Amino acid sequence: MSTYTPTYTPMIQQYLKIKADYKDCYLFFRMGDFYEMFFDDAISASRELEITLTSRDGGSKDKIPMCGIPYHSAANYIRNLVEKGYKVAICEQVEDPKTAKGVVKREVVQLITPGTVMEGTMLDEKENNYLASISGYEDGSFIISYNDLSTGENSIATIQSGWTAVLSELFNRPVKEIVISSSLLEEHQLDLKERLQVTLSYHDETEIANNFEHLLSNLKKENEINSFGRLFNYIQKTQKRSLDHLKPAQLIELNKYMSLDMYSKRNLELTETIMRKGKQGSLLWVIDQTVTAMGSRMLKKWLERPLLSERLIDQRFNLVDGFLEQFFERETIRDSLRSIYDLERLSGRVAFGNVNARDLNQLKLSLSKIPDIKKQLKDFASERVQELSEGVNPLDDLFDLLDNSLIEDAPITIKEGGLIKDGFNSQLDDYRYASRNGKKWIAELEKKEKQETNIRSLKIGYNRVFGYYIEVTKANLHLLPEGKYERKQTLTNAERYITPELKEKESLILEAEEKSIDLEYQLFIDLREQVKTYIPQLQALADKISEIDVLQGFATVSELNRYNRPKFNDDREVLIRQGRHPVIEKVMKNDSFVPNDVEMPEDRNILLITGPNMSGKSTYMRQLALTSIMAQIGCFVPCESAVLPIFDQIFTRIGAADDLVSGQSTFMVEMLEANHAITNATENSLILLDEIGRGTSTYDGMALAQAIIEYLHENVQAKTLFSTHYHELTSLEKTLNQLKNIHVRAEEYEGSVVFLHQIQDGAADKSYGIHVAKLAELPLPLIDRASKILEQFENNQTKKQVNLDKKDEEDQGQLSFFVNQEKGSKKELSKFENKLAQEIRDINIMEMTPMEAMNELYRLQKKLKDKLGGS
Ligand code: ADP
Ligand code: MG
Repeated sequence: MSTYTPTYTPMIQQYLKIKADYKDCYLFFRMGDFYEMFFDDAISASRELEITLTSRDGGSKDKIPMCGIPYHSAANYIRNLVEKGYKVAICEQVEDPKTAKGVVKREVVQLITPGTVMEGTMLDEKENNYLASISGYEDGSFIISYNDLSTGENSIATIQSGWTAVLSELFNRPVKEIVISSSLLEEHQLDLKERLQVTLSYHDETEIANNFEHLLSNLKKENEINSFGRLFNYIQKTQKRSLDHLKPAQLIELNKYMSLDMYSKRNLELTETIMRKGKQGSLLWVIDQTVTAMGSRMLKKWLERPLLSERLIDQRFNLVDGFLEQFFERETIRDSLRSIYDLERLSGRVAFGNVNARDLNQLKLSLSKIPDIKKQLKDFASERVQELSEGVNPLDDLFDLLDNSLIEDAPITIKEGGLIKDGFNSQLDDYRYASRNGKKWIAELEKKEKQETNIRSLKIGYNRVFGYYIEVTKANLHLLPEGKYERKQTLTNAERYITPELKEKESLILEAEEKSIDLEYQLFIDLREQVKTYIPQLQALADKISEIDVLQGFATVSELNRYNRPKFNDDREVLIRQGRHPVIEKVMKNDSFVPNDVEMPEDRNILLITGPNMSGKSTYMRQLALTSIMAQIGCFVPCESAVLPIFDQIFTRIGAADDLVSGQSTFMVEMLEANHAITNATENSLILLDEIGRGTSTYDGMALAQAIIEYLHENVQAKTLFSTHYHELTSLEKTLNQLKNIHVRAEEYEGSVVFLHQIQDGAADKSYGIHVAKLAELPLPLIDRASKILEQFENNQTKKQVNLDKKDEEDQGQLSFFVNQEKGSKKELSKFENKLAQEIRDINIMEMTPMEAMNELYRLQKKLKDKLGGS
């Protein structure tokens, strides 16, 4: 650091003082028609926004880096920064520069952050936009509070089971920004930034102003109030505007919902896919047949929280059934719903005071459809559907108010009139009368002047600069009487004149118009205030409409994809006939998906699934999880019939998804996920373990896999689907009475393998790995060689069977497939071969791409050549 302290100009000093309060934001510093940024802000903003970096004198020795963006195009730049996760503080001039003494006063008037955006262009209409806060407490619990500023939703959830559960709760939710205390553990902060990729904001104040106490009406515990307080205080401090639309915080009772940990949310691709991170290809993508943005958002919320109460699920099923029965009525309702505007977000914008006449007209149009929807609901035979209609309040008063006041095609701008209907306000009517009257007088004047002068082309026109004028073409000028007209403007082939009489009328008209525009603006603001008082009712209506939309959507998708209503049982029985994977069947063309049964009676807890690579093991496992989740959100399921338990939790360990971000190895992740399942599952849970043990050496992996199965079998007793490439494990069926082998059928046809994707009882007899390699068109000599090696292994294996029975654990130290056939004289060579053979044995062909297999073979061959010579 230099010892030189620069003496900055007063303006830069002002900048630095304000910037000190907004260290983690880009400070947009208003200067005339520009927002300027200085110092480091300027350097990094010029990079992020690709704008030119300049510099200016600021009183110091060195010039100050600076960049600026025009005020009128700021919105795009702000959006760009906020979408990248940055915060922007808007600092405006708060006094008139003309009258200011010294430096113009400036203040930050708004903070725009990823979690608090309100602009339509920055929001995904089908997704909530949450700001969250996390507070940790001494008893080890955490409380997460959520706010969606655009819809007014507030909710909070208490998490008792530690930090991982916090991450799981937040994972895949549309949380853009999290407010935390600066004392939150460093490693937790890192998790939030890197694993969830959210913007962090620090805020320690938790006080809630008196006039917002109604937001706390559902909260009882001190910690709940304190956690929500942090969130709310942050919103108040940053937003500096009306928050009248915020709803009381709802307690999310997590134990009332199926719990899905982070791994399952990701692996099952419920709302987004692992690879592309988009909705396309996810379960949500398949089942979303909602027609409103509100419905789409609600569906996503339901999908994030499958229910545990059979009663509540059945309520949803009954409604879906009701909608399903009547196609035409359902289509009619869908049509009506399509014209319902986003009432929820509109309420938010009404509260913020930034709706225009067009928004309010859309609100009116939406309200005009509500009586239809009520009636259409009553047209259904199902009483349950009819009952839905009772909760729908058409808000007649509000409709009438809008209908009487607003002109249907009013412009977006609210400052130029044309908003309010005649007859709504008598003062306005008077002004308009005066103005219209004046215009009529002018039309008559034109007629009179024409007659008097005998100039047929004479006309009276208007422009902003000269006001009303009489225009006469040059050819006719000689017909004008002297003295009566005063020349105002000369055009190429005409002259424009005024008369005192015309000017007098003009000022009357303009005055009336100006007053009427001012009055219209005032009336519109009043109207907006009146609409504000309807916000809670609008929000309730929005809720009802969303629910109807989601349920009709379930009916629509169920009909479209031939889903059926499942039955629940308390006996932990799973019995699915002809089940399908909802997403894969959609992606595959021409109905080629092969349906399969799942049979797990009360006393069968584990299905051990074998079968060649690519046969459909993972698909079959996921299918059960997705089917259960669909059932528990109240949607029908892809199968002919299903009997299901209500699962309290679903755990998954499904391969390939390396946790690259956290930098853990595949095997470590595998073990973490397995451990998570084993320690948290109950007998009412569903566990999917897909080829566990792949990430380590054969014996390690096999031993762990077997131990895990045994542990689950003895201690956890959750319904478990366990796929494996270790055929040795299938012998467990003999000793574990709740375990059953099944396999995915494949057939050999003319020397290659044909996948039938059919689940059958018993273990698979072959691994078909070599056939898969053949399908992948590896060179034929290589395939032949692999077949020979395999044969050799299999022979050796029968000679020395590996005993994996639990009782013989002591023997396991001697595990070896390789039988040394070398005689003593060639001991050296035999040792080498021994090692080589072991290496070949440990190659996991099933795990390899053809290219990897080639490379591996090349490496082995080279080793051999190096040792023995030859080419
Ligand atoms: P595995 O886990 O046994 O290697 P996957 O479950 O990943 O196999 O399935 C591989 C591919 O086989 C899937 O991507 C899908 O295209 C196809 N498949 C799986 N199950 C079926 C099925 N039941 N019907 C039709 N195709 C299927
Ligand atoms: Mg698989």
